[in-house]
Amino acid sequence: MDTILVLLHTEADGTLAKPALEALGAAAELGGTLVVGLIGKDVQPAADSIASCGAAKYYGVSGDEFAQARYSSDAAAAEAICKEANPTVVIVPATSRWNRVLSGVAHRLGGRVDTHVTGVSRTEGALSAARWYYRQRMEAVVQRTHRPWCIALEAGCHEACAAGAGKATVENVNVILSEAARQTTVTGIKTVAADQQTIRPDAKLLFVTGAGWTKKQPDGKAHVEEAAKIILEFLQHSQASLGGTKSLVDLGGEGQTVLPFMTHLNQIGQTGSTPRHPKGLSTCCHGEEPHVIGWRFVNERRAINLDPNCPWAHGKADVLYVADALQVMSKVNELLAAKK
Ligand SMILES: Cc1cc2nc3c(=O)[nH]c(=O)nc-3n(C[C@H](O)[C@H](O)[C@H](O)COP(=O)(O)OP(=O)(O)OC[C@H]3O[C@@H](n4cnc5c(N)ncnc54)[C@H](O)[C@@H]3O)c2cc1C
Repeated sequence: MDTILVLLHTEADGTLAKPALEALGAAAELGGTLVVGLIGKDVQPAADSIASCGAAKYYGVSGDEFAQARYSSDAAAAEAICKEANPTVVIVPATSRWNRVLSGVAHRLGGRVDTHVTGVSRTEGALSAARWYYRQRMEAVVQRTHRPWCIALEAGCHEACAAGAGKATVENVNVILSEAARQTTVTGIKTVAADQQTIRPDAKLLFVTGAGWTKKQPDGKAHVEEAAKIILEFLQHSQASLGGTKSLVDLGGEGQTVLPFMTHLNQIGQTGSTPRHPKGLSTCCHGEEPHVIGWRFVNERRAINLDPNCPWAHGKADVLYVADALQVMSKVNELLAAKK
């Protein structure tokens, strides 16, 4: 029988974030002995918050030195917990903090690692992990006989564990860091202001903008400033997540006037991202295959394009509105504003 260790780190406020609860939820369904390992400044409140998750044991590495992400201290803490818990399987949420250290930890334990895993399951007693290859074109389900098997589970792929709070007994694991392991210090965190954050993984709608927003319109002129205003207003009303085509995000690098809030992080497609929003609305985007491949997990799709023969009309969208997106989205904004 497997001993499944779920390794979690606390957030700055001492809580566990959603991806942590999702990894716990996935691990709890696998059977075997569930064990939880926690890393953070003070892990007791986090352990108490998941006290009824069914874990047989809780291990914790805590202290100021483990409050923030740092390869040397995180890897040392994870290794120490693994040596105490002696797991056959280690599951972590694929946060940037765990993604950075998991391979190193697996190496130290003489284990194997799989990252970008989108699902774990047990069939006829055998544990399987699913992940996508070739830019989400092929899904493979893999099994390993080697143990320990370390798995980083992507966010948004499993329901969060709904374990109730209670009182958990945490066994503290003592980790003494050498001087070298304490050399790196986090001096601060820079993030964009909340209202400037246009990538929203939890949004219900993915709003994709294509290069058409910046092109000459039927009146012979480009209306980039107006386009920016319409797009931002729609995002504000709808709280949708903003995606873009490669052509649009590349324009900035070519010195053309572009939408200032678009970056390569917004790019959807073969060389961009593959988001998982339930619905998508494409505007001024041609719908070419290298772009649409990024819509693989978006099940309900609509597009607005002036061209009735664009690829969205050829089975890539459920509905294509043959219309001027600037006009349509201005009207949508008007209606949304009136609803408030
Ligand atoms: C190896 C490779 C990898 C690639 N990876 C990606 C990727 O990851 N992501 C990606 O997006 N692309 C990718 N591409 C590029 C992709 O093939 C297309 O070139 C790109 O998606 C086109 O962007 P677009 O639709 O915004 O622009 P365009 O092709 O210029 O289309 C603009 C569209 O806007 C419409 N339009 C203009 N004005 C309006 C209006 N007022 N109302 C409504 N519609 C209007 C036009 O009818 C047109 O269909 C890749 C290409 C290659 C070769």
